[in-house]
Amino acid sequence: MNNSKDYTKYIVVKKSGIHGKGIFVSTDILKGNKILDIEGDVINGDECERREEENNNVYIFWNGDDCYIDTSMSARIKYINHDCNFNCDVVENDNDGLMIIAYRNIKKGEELTIDYGYEDIYEDCGCDSCTQDEDPE
Ligand SMILES: [Zn+2]
Repeated sequence: MNNSKDYTKYIVVKKSGIHGKGIFVSTDILKGNKILDIEGDVINGDECERREEENNNVYIFWNGDDCYIDTSMSARIKYINHDCNFNCDVVENDNDGLMIIAYRNIKKGEELTIDYGYEDIYEDCGCDSCTQDEDPE
């Protein structure tokens, strides 16, 4: 793995074909490279539940045990979309937090996507791989 390059300056927020806005890269990134840290409020499970229910907050990442990261105030990471054919992965970084890495080689101009990993997302998924595979009925 080569984590020497700082990719954060190659991340741009643009209109997405999947949903609303998305985050895109303006350079090629090789599989396994760190792209950016997941920044936000570190909160516990009770607070996570409260924010999800009261604020309809969908920008919260689970960080193991009773620890969650609320990215709703972040400039970029909150725009990452779900795709069943995702190109990024969420892993632990060196500071007990989370980061986004390239799950496969990513080409300049691609939208960065992850697997949100919760049931509801798959039911009515609008990602390219789901809408293309639909059987005409
Ligand atoms: Zn899908």
